Amino acid sequence: MSIVSLARPEVVAMKPYSSARKEASADGVLLNANEAPWSLLADDKTADASSESQEPAVQSLLNRYPDPQPGELVGRLAELYEVTADQLLVTRGSDEGIDLLTRVFCRAGKDAILHCPPTFGMYQIAAQTQGADVIAVSRSEDEDFRLNTAQVIAAVEQNDTIRLVFLTSPNNPTGDCIETDDLQHLLEVTNDRAIVVVDEAYAEFCRRPSAIRLLERNPHLVVLRTLSKAWASAGLRCGAVLANPEIIGLLGRIIAPYPLASPVAALANRVLQPDLMQRQLSMLTELAANKQRLVDRLRASPAVKKLWPGEANFVLIRVSNAGDMLSHFATGGVILRGYSGDPALRQCIRISVGSKQDLDAFDACLASWEKKTDEF
Ligand code: PMP
Repeated sequence: MSIVSLARPEVVAMKPYSSARKEASADGVLLNANEAPWSLLADDKTADASSESQEPAVQSLLNRYPDPQPGELVGRLAELYEVTADQLLVTRGSDEGIDLLTRVFCRAGKDAILHCPPTFGMYQIAAQTQGADVIAVSRSEDEDFRLNTAQVIAAVEQNDTIRLVFLTSPNNPTGDCIETDDLQHLLEVTNDRAIVVVDEAYAEFCRRPSAIRLLERNPHLVVLRTLSKAWASAGLRCGAVLANPEIIGLLGRIIAPYPLASPVAALANRVLQPDLMQRQLSMLTELAANKQRLVDRLRASPAVKKLWPGEANFVLIRVSNAGDMLSHFATGGVILRGYSGDPALRQCIRISVGSKQDLDAFDACLASWEKKTDEF
């Protein structure tokens, strides 16, 4: 069975929009896209100065629509993730990848996604927006919130409406990873039935092999990566969908004509230059040390009832009174993530690993919170 037969027939049948920049290259006298003939920032020294990292060339080309899939950036990302350019689609963060996948593979009122809460909330939101069913294989606290692959497999076998299986490794907010054997087993079961999406937003923080190397033998596997976390570029909104060229082609049919603003592509290229890659490695080392310090502090705290250190750049804790603790920290200027609307994460708080100074501020708030409360 081909991947195309899993996609929405209307997406397969439609003639995709063909933008001016797709139909003709950006060379020559450009009178094909209703653009202005010059950029208002072309000679703007203030704009240059205000944004030191934006090349002047980007500013003087601002009047032009950007390349829909900027070649240089696609090349850099393909090299980084060790795939070919036709296995990669650059998107506005992984959020857009999740949305595109759901719109391509799920028919409203007919198809479903499967996810494993507690997990990242956007899989469910994308499905609900698309009118697709959401099948939850919940993680049990008795199993330490670990993914239950056997249950995921059983759900896929019992329900042939499932088109997308969203797995997150490491998972947000529990921090656990899927084991390679489990993933391989799941890929066997889902073959010809569903697309398996492994969201690796936090992969760089753990030392496990990426699911990317399984792409070659599994045409129904998709891996999501992002520059938002370990590349310290959440403000860019730049992510990548990695999959076989057939899936990339299907997503390309419905993606916005010009998803990436030209300053974004230029800055993403800059972030992926060798000197910054070096800086990224030292950042990852520093964050690993900061995480150890955070974990040690939390382990020693009477305020913490349970700790899930996980394998990403955050930890999850359970406390006695999350609401009050969040307010106490907020008063001290430290903002943590609470989950008051999610019964599975009752009294839980997620803490991102920050800089040393961030941790100093966190420690100070924790110390005053410990002093203030004696009901532990
Ligand atoms: N996947 C997971 C697991 C996440 O936690 C997040 C963001 N919190 C995203 C995807 C979205 O990332 P992006 O910034 O690339 O859209």
